[in-house]
Amino acid sequence: MKIICIGRNYIDHAKELNSSIPEEPVFFLKPDSSLLIRNRPFYYPDFSQDVHYELELVLRISRVGKNIKEEYANSYFDAINIGIDFTARDIQRKCIKNGLPWEVAKAFDRSAVIGDEFIPRESFSNLDKINFHLDINGKTVQEGNSGNMIFNFAKLIVHISQFMTLKMGDLIYTGTPAGVGPVNIGDRLEGYLNGEKIIDFKVK
Ligand code: ZN
Repeated sequence: MKIICIGRNYIDHAKELNSSIPEEPVFFLKPDSSLLIRNRPFYYPDFSQDVHYELELVLRISRVGKNIKEEYANSYFDAINIGIDFTARDIQRKCIKNGLPWEVAKAFDRSAVIGDEFIPRESFSNLDKINFHLDINGKTVQEGNSGNMIFNFAKLIVHISQFMTLKMGDLIYTGTPAGVGPVNIGDRLEGYLNGEKIIDFKVK
């Protein structure tokens, strides 16, 4: 399986990174070895001094698809979860400055946290009104709503499937809202999807 991550899908987050608003979705990949499951601890990597959390809605692809049409796009995922796209921001800044790929900053082990429960797509009454938020040590640091995405789920699937075949089990991290920031050893991270806690782990 592959993990596809969308960059800059919320206007307020693009602004906080001083990035321009994209005209089409920007995406990058993480390998399956980057997954961190079952609320296991995140071990702070020794190659970075500035690892940031990015809480995101995550789609689970349930059918093989290529050049998917927008009107059918939502039938290609069967469940929604939340995840954290951990980013070594200090290394990413160097990559951007030097025009290099981002993998060292984005694709390292345990950099793709996935919540402990996939919620079936059918149980969401409105895909444009999904709330999610992240608490660190009991304080809310990030809040998002799917209605504020620049490109909705269907548009993301259409775009990605032009370039690469989507397969069962692939995950799409759909981008982060504003409020990203650093984590520290000892922090407890709790992530909520429509009020239900499905992420709860510590940084060690
Ligand atoms: Zn992200």
